Amino acid sequence: MYTEFQKHLQQTLQEIKDAGLYKNERVIVTPQSSGIQVAGEKGNVDVINFCANNYLGLADSKELIDAAKKRMDERGYGMASVRFICGTQDTHKMLEKAISDFFGTEDTILYAACFDANGGLFEPLLTADDAIISDALNHASIIDGVRLCKAVRYRYANGDMADLEKQLQAAQAQRFRIIATDGVFSMDGNVCPLDKIYELAQKYNAMVMVDESHSAGVVGKTGHGVTEQYNLRGKIEILTGTLGKAFGGSVGGFTTGKKEIIDLLRQRSRPYLFSNSIPPMVAAAAIKTFEILTRDNKLQDILHENTKYFVEKMTAAGFDIKPTQSAICAVMLYDARLSQEFAAALQQEGIYVTGFYYPVVPQGQARIRVQLSAAHTREQLDKGIAAFIKVGKQLGVLK
Ligand SMILES: *Cc1c(COP(=O)(O)O)cnc(C)c1O
Repeated sequence: MYTEFQKHLQQTLQEIKDAGLYKNERVIVTPQSSGIQVAGEKGNVDVINFCANNYLGLADSKELIDAAKKRMDERGYGMASVRFICGTQDTHKMLEKAISDFFGTEDTILYAACFDANGGLFEPLLTADDAIISDALNHASIIDGVRLCKAVRYRYANGDMADLEKQLQAAQAQRFRIIATDGVFSMDGNVCPLDKIYELAQKYNAMVMVDESHSAGVVGKTGHGVTEQYNLRGKIEILTGTLGKAFGGSVGGFTTGKKEIIDLLRQRSRPYLFSNSIPPMVAAAAIKTFEILTRDNKLQDILHENTKYFVEKMTAAGFDIKPTQSAICAVMLYDARLSQEFAAALQQEGIYVTGFYYPVVPQGQARIRVQLSAAHTREQLDKGIAAFIKVGKQLGVLK
């Protein structure tokens, strides 16, 4: 059998390559940070990193590493169990409490990843009698979670409140309704209009679920996410998020919100019931993260300053930048090949970025997505901007 299947796979892989869509992974040989080394043909190369989700620069934080090491010494390496059999330590309970405190919610449940949090969210809560109204640009994990649930699906155009209202009217046919949205949409860096979503939810008797993966730690004056930005702390029924981005960049996900919702997820959510607990060291480092973020506002302030600085300089240089309210800055190039050439030329200049083109973004919307971090120094930002300008002129993007 495999000989035939192998041929089929080889053909499929070739098609991906021919379409210019084959993804090669670059190998980093240092800790994740704003300055890293990647393996090159002639040895390791220094680059400034503008494509990590390391928004607060905590991925190589000494404080987090120390907290993880200490906990590993105290509580061992792994849990070798799911939570409900024998995989819950006090560390996990403390982390769930820290997350609830951070977001102002009633309770929290941990997962191995936010992909699992979203994948296991809807199916235990809703039935074929209910409705999910989902933003068209929601993350793949929300889409998969919705697919696994029998609820009736409605979709509204990204951030389009007139369309959401129309879908909510149609969804009056169902028993319970939940609107699902990303907090920050990762391709443009736009924040969901949560104030208006909340208003419509009140008007049409719906609940709201927000995935805070790209917004938590970033959005809002003190980085408490979109509920801080829109003054809706404690008002949203369900928030999900990741420990793999701003919150230290390791692994882990969570759902946080109303007590009964979290309680039922503990009873019925399949990625929670049938998948291993996160290691105690990861939980301990995450607890430290929330301690750092509530101790003062230093990292959040630096991230906001860095983002503002980069966007202003790039706009002044003549680049076409998507309006952003997050730490994501989309430099629009529109043409797929140009975005690939641009990213390759930047790498030659020691700037690590990725070009995004169809099907990751719509046809004719190719871009380079820059992600800012509190770890970026002013010098690194200036080098990045200078390289963008140099390549922009070389490739005729700037005059
Ligand atoms: C990154 C991301 C996820 C996945 O998070 P993991 O913890 O890495 O699985 C889910 N949702 C959104 C919106 C994301 O950006």
